[in-house]
Amino acid sequence: MSFNYLHLVGNAELIKQLNYAMIYRLIVQQAPISRIQLAEISQLAPASITKITRQLIKNELIKEVNTQQSTGGRPAVSIQAKFSHYQAIGIQLSRSHVTIELYDLGANSLALEIHPLTTFEQKLAQEYLIGLIEQFIQKKGKQIKHLVAISVVLPGLIDSVRGIIRYMPHIQVNAWYLAEILQKQFNVSIFLGNDIQSLALAESYFGSTQGVDDSILIRVHRGVGSGVIVNQQLLTNHNQSACEVGHIQVDPLGERCHCGNFGCLENRVVNKAIEHRARLMIKQGYVSKLTVEHCDINHICRHANQGDALAIKLIKDAGENLGRAIAIMVNIFNPQRIVLAGELTKSPEILLNAVTSSLNTQSLEELRKNLTITCSSLNDRSAIGAFALVQQALFNGSLLMALLDDKEQ
Ligand SMILES: [Zn+2]
Repeated sequence: MSFNYLHLVGNAELIKQLNYAMIYRLIVQQAPISRIQLAEISQLAPASITKITRQLIKNELIKEVNTQQSTGGRPAVSIQAKFSHYQAIGIQLSRSHVTIELYDLGANSLALEIHPLTTFEQKLAQEYLIGLIEQFIQKKGKQIKHLVAISVVLPGLIDSVRGIIRYMPHIQVNAWYLAEILQKQFNVSIFLGNDIQSLALAESYFGSTQGVDDSILIRVHRGVGSGVIVNQQLLTNHNQSACEVGHIQVDPLGERCHCGNFGCLENRVVNKAIEHRARLMIKQGYVSKLTVEHCDINHICRHANQGDALAIKLIKDAGENLGRAIAIMVNIFNPQRIVLAGELTKSPEILLNAVTSSLNTQSLEELRKNLTITCSSLNDRSAIGAFALVQQALFNGSLLMALLDDKEQ
């Protein structure tokens, strides 16, 4: 569930939360940092910094460290985050697998399990998921000292304020109150989010868009999804739909899409579409090292990298079509960075060149002159996106305040 200002009682409480959040974020991102520097950057009074850091130290969220001053004088006391005291579980519920990963508060993975997803009915999937989490907690008991959150990301539409899953492409869902159910079961903070949007957020916290204000992540897999970051915040709407770039028309004479339109991006660039075209072209006699039996997306990328003409053509075509949709997004959002994720990025050079060539003819020069396009540096199979929602709740203060022992604030 995302943080909602309306849940706070009174203005003083809100200001307190925002101040704690700001100081914690500064410490995480700029450590080691001194109290004096914190006061300067945050513009808070030194007395407030003393009070906030005392609380954060007491609750094991930060710690003091000695740093040698550059002038060689007495060691000065600085502050850095303490990540090891609390843990969070991140879960990626993909179309075929459940990835469960244990993290410390520094986004370090402590344990990882991947299980197949074989049940596609809400109630059964829920029982399966709860069972997997219970087993995981039991097995990793030694590493889990203070579990503070469980975060689940999945493809679909989510009412993140109330923690309800409205739609999933692979599980029959009828207003699935998963956040409430997990909260009752495990008694920790629960976060729910869309997998692609959460991955975009993870890139901005831990990956290739760190420190970048405006960025867009586009992931090509079974569909094409995207997450938009504006002013370092995830752009969300009422049901957390990821920008449906997959149904942008890139070819008016293209094949009919399941959405009813013709020539949608999805029909040209998703793994299955590329694999399907590869098979057709091989059957029609194109000379290639690929064979009808061995032409999944990983084969295609590998052969493209080794110079196979057909494989290169396929990746190039996907890149150019992706570039058409990206050009539209650049014209609308004017991001500083675009991050591509998915199997296609295993041929980074061919893909990026093709995307750039489309972009250069179809977007305003003024909007793309400071734009860089890269491939994701995160493993999109991990549950790092789920952990990003925990990080978000620490940085906006909602989870941070829940971790404070409030008797003495
Ligand atoms: Zn479509």
